[in-house]
Amino acid sequence: MNRRQRNAGPLAPQELEEAVAALADQRDRLRSEIATAEKAESAVRDGGDLDAADVSTTNVTIQELHTRTEDAAALLDRTLAALTRAEQGTFGMCTHCGAAVGRERVMALPHAELCVTCAQRPEVSPAR
Ligand SMILES: [Zn+2]
Repeated sequence: MNRRQRNAGPLAPQELEEAVAALADQRDRLRSEIATAEKAESAVRDGGDLDAADVSTTNVTIQELHTRTEDAAALLDRTLAALTRAEQGTFGMCTHCGAAVGRERVMALPHAELCVTCAQRPEVSPAR
């Protein structure tokens, strides 16, 4: 098997399994991250648990927590979408052009929905 086939061909069942396991881990981690950040955010809003000495940074903290939650939620959406693609048998294919996303990219970024070419096009690529 040459390098091109290894990188561009369909994923082996074992590789798909690995990617799905990585996605499931990522999903669980993001869910607990979001839950923790939301809890902290509401604790800060209620003036609850947080150290009184932290008051001067409270506004920043809420903003940061909020941003972190939104980032995690966006990544969670992409992770869930990738798991759905895995169920439908389209995992590893670019959602824009249908080309193989590429094995190395899929293993490094299992939630990636675009191939490298499409990801580099600003009109196709999502904001982050
Ligand atoms: Zn593409």
